[in-house]
Amino acid sequence: MEIVAVPAFTDNYIWLVHDRESGETAVVDPGDAAPVLAEASRRGWTIGQVWNTHWHPDHTGGNVAIKQANGARVSGPAAENIPASDVALKEGDEVRLGRHVGRVMEVPGHTSGHIALVFDEDGVAFVGDTLFAMGCGRLFEGSPEQMYRSLQRLAALPGDTRLYCAHEYTLANARFAAHAEPENRAIADRLAEVAALRDAGQITLPTTVAQERETNPFVRSTNVEEFARRRAAKDSFGS
Ligand SMILES: [Zn+2]
Repeated sequence: MEIVAVPAFTDNYIWLVHDRESGETAVVDPGDAAPVLAEASRRGWTIGQVWNTHWHPDHTGGNVAIKQANGARVSGPAAENIPASDVALKEGDEVRLGRHVGRVMEVPGHTSGHIALVFDEDGVAFVGDTLFAMGCGRLFEGSPEQMYRSLQRLAALPGDTRLYCAHEYTLANARFAAHAEPENRAIADRLAEVAALRDAGQITLPTTVAQERETNPFVRSTNVEEFARRRAAKDSFGS
């Protein structure tokens, strides 16, 4: 499974996923069609599927155009209003790309129907705006309890699972993490690494479950109250 980041808008990443064996291609959260269609065409790939993690327009704005251009089948969370949707996904459902199987995990909090796609055998998960490197999504629709549980479920995946998040927020998240856990050496080290990567114009993703267990103050919260306190503090933290 080959995974390519297509930058969009200010800080979104749209993930193009290609299976060499079957020649199939999917795209995760295409907020904008143009850069995705251009990148796929440059590589000689035809997008057969769109997978959406949640309804926000910066994740679904390209659905209609990609479906029109390539005849792609659109799958997204059953609990949300997804443009051009063909397949409604619920907990335990599967998406397939060639012989790669992704299982649907419901991870509400950022939105009430948000899903993640977990490819267990590939050690890959597309997590949308639920978990970010060293951070997590804002609570627009869900409760702290829901988000805390969603993050704990993702953090319970094997440590080497690569997490593909939908935004380049890592540097701002790292600064908050260093503020939330000033004694955490792993956070301080990662802040320096991330700052160097961003100075060089490099992507900081994917992250891994193991890295997040060490350096993500939201994943590391020991209970819902601590999580809620940190989430509220992050909302008002200048970065
Ligand atoms: Zn969102």
